[in-house]
Amino acid sequence: MAMKYGIICDIHSNLEALNLVVDYLKRVEKIERFICCGDIVGYGAKPNECTEFIRQLENCLVVAGNHDWGAVGLEDTSFFNPIAREAVEWTRRNLTEDNRNYLKNLASEIEEKNFMLVHGSPRDPINEYIFEQTTFLANLPGIKKNICFVGHTHVPLCFYATSSQQIGEILLDDGTVVEINPSYKYLINCGSVGQPRDGDPRASCGIYDAQRNSLKIKRIEYDIAKTQEEILNAGLPAALALRLGYGR
Ligand code: ZN
Repeated sequence: MAMKYGIICDIHSNLEALNLVVDYLKRVEKIERFICCGDIVGYGAKPNECTEFIRQLENCLVVAGNHDWGAVGLEDTSFFNPIAREAVEWTRRNLTEDNRNYLKNLASEIEEKNFMLVHGSPRDPINEYIFEQTTFLANLPGIKKNICFVGHTHVPLCFYATSSQQIGEILLDDGTVVEINPSYKYLINCGSVGQPRDGDPRASCGIYDAQRNSLKIKRIEYDIAKTQEEILNAGLPAALALRLGYGR
């Protein structure tokens, strides 16, 4: 069986993007396994629909994100900015009990044979952002596998350390392929499905081929206008609709 994984992180209640990304991964890439590095909910208008979508997706490894646990009362949201907090409170009010229980029971870290996944960082799985090589270096001892997949920053980026601990990074644009060296350590963020922040408003996802040991990034257009309308109709802050158009 082909050991290809679709990587879908930071969905943020964006059902339009999630639908198209998973459809592409299944139909075009023939993918039957998925990795989700958290933040299924928060910001967008479809928390129940997105949570149910992930629950029904077969062979999907899922870890919790700060918004998932914020929405079910497991994370302190007083550090969230005012707009994020308004959204997390809206999400808390709108989640069904079933979905709330599902999010509550997510693990904060999953380890497989060749890779692991967390939302933030190995030393702080829920909350730490890794934008810089120094933060990657500080987290290197926690990377117990060839690859650590993360989310949280919403910026597609790959850090690596060679066996002699030389550090480097690779920008992950649409179509970028990274050949994974089995003797290196990697920390890979495949970007955000539902709220990209690298200036490209298209949904971002990854394709990890565990047999060939390669990773590819794919950007996918979705109906941003419809998603913005749903956010406004739900009474969520207008800034959350606007930012989807800029990809920031
Ligand atoms: Zn997020």
